[in-house]
Amino acid sequence: MAEYTTTIGLEIHAELKTNSKMFCGCKNDADEKRPNVNICPICMGHPGTLPVVNREAVRKVLQVGVAVGGVLADFTEFDRKNYFYPDIPKDYQISQYKYPLVSGGSLAGVALTRVHLEEDTARSSHEGGVDSLVDFNRAGVPLMELVTEPVMHSAEEAMAFGRELQILLQYLGVSEANMEKGEMRVEVNISVSKTDTFGTKVEVKNINSFRAAGRAIEYEYKRQTELLEKGEKIAQETRGFDENKGITFSQRSKEDSHDYRYFPDPDIPKFLLSEIPEFAVGEIKKTLPETPAQKRVRYTKDYCLKNGDIETFVNNPALAVFFEGATQGLNKDEVQVLANYITSDLAGLIKNATVSEDAVLTTVGVQHMTTLIHMISQNTVSSRGAKDVLKVMSEQGGDPQQIATDKGLVQKNDPEEIKKVIQAIVVEHADRVLEYKNGKDSLLQFFVGQGMKAMKGAGNPEMIQEILLDLLKN
Ligand code: ADP
Ligand code: ZN
Ligand code: MG
Repeated sequence: MAEYTTTIGLEIHAELKTNSKMFCGCKNDADEKRPNVNICPICMGHPGTLPVVNREAVRKVLQVGVAVGGVLADFTEFDRKNYFYPDIPKDYQISQYKYPLVSGGSLAGVALTRVHLEEDTARSSHEGGVDSLVDFNRAGVPLMELVTEPVMHSAEEAMAFGRELQILLQYLGVSEANMEKGEMRVEVNISVSKTDTFGTKVEVKNINSFRAAGRAIEYEYKRQTELLEKGEKIAQETRGFDENKGITFSQRSKEDSHDYRYFPDPDIPKFLLSEIPEFAVGEIKKTLPETPAQKRVRYTKDYCLKNGDIETFVNNPALAVFFEGATQGLNKDEVQVLANYITSDLAGLIKNATVSEDAVLTTVGVQHMTTLIHMISQNTVSSRGAKDVLKVMSEQGGDPQQIATDKGLVQKNDPEEIKKVIQAIVVEHADRVLEYKNGKDSLLQFFVGQGMKAMKGAGNPEMIQEILLDLLKN
């Protein structure tokens, strides 16, 4: 089968983390379990009510815009997107059409089309069969929509983009962006083609995880190429993704898709961002925390870490804070050792712990972590011993020096003491010493092992080897 190119564009929605809803004073609370408590005439769409734009929501979208290097709108307005559905009490959704807050920009090498602001819909549930229930707590929650250009070409690339956007939103404090909770929702547009021209695109909805996005893309690639190979046409349509079956299914064709009849919402004043000083690019910039991209640069420059370690820290801010704290007073080499112990050993202990990551990190303590690294670099503990000490530190806390002493893990570095032990071993294994001297070099490790055993694992293995070589020379 000839090679087809896949083209992918994403449309991603994220619920913004604001105190109140987009156009009213109702609480914006994704964790509210009781249905229909955070509602008022405005978000219920009663006639005669007047929406008021949530300044914080606008600021958050502008923060995203600056972080991705997009152009902030000067003139902006809100539009009505008209359609009828039980989850949209006004029979229109307030969104942005012609004048989005942000245009262009890029993230993870992917060109962006726009980022705009709208309101979320209510949540309908059809469980139980006969009746459909609607919960309006979510109606009117500020929702950011980000649209990418059709420039991605693989499931991996699309998933990586989604993850990068997710951590960016979390860094900026703009959204929790938890996909399981529906705080971030991904729609995938995909087409395949053998030529440079775009193929017919299919939009896939109901995707609950990045993994699902990847699976939907793989499935669509296969389905679309197979159709084309049979000489059939791809229908431009919206499809859903069935998580359990791992397949997409037709939901509606483009022909009967909605004509939304967008028009500017007459109840909301249009505004010029240039007339609002706090929304100037410079002002927004001042409010931005470090972004994941900036953190990568800083970690490369300041700590010279390997990319894998950097990614672990970029994806886990709590671990990164712990790492940075523990670098105090360590030299470059020790910092690398610290990164290794945190990203492999400590991360493993956290994974298997019965308590939270935060709890483990607090129990270990930043300063004790630094002390442990000093002990390793000064050969006070072997790397093997350090792992045991760290385990105790993560479970019970405490000073690593004390733990190492209690567990007999303080490494013996006294050459005279080691020499005595080695001499005894050499006497005890006179026959093997002879074999060694007759050319059986591999026995050296046996002697080192015997030395470690005699010192209950607390001997410095390099020193033992050095002394052995010296003793066995003649
Ligand atoms: P529509 O008008 O149908 O909503 P848009 O042009 O607004 O289409 O694009 C919506 C999304 O579809 C964007 O993410 C865009 O990148 C993506 N897209 C557009 N054309 C294609 C294509 N041929 N293949 C894959 N994705 C596409
Ligand atoms: Zn309300
Ligand atoms: Mg569109």
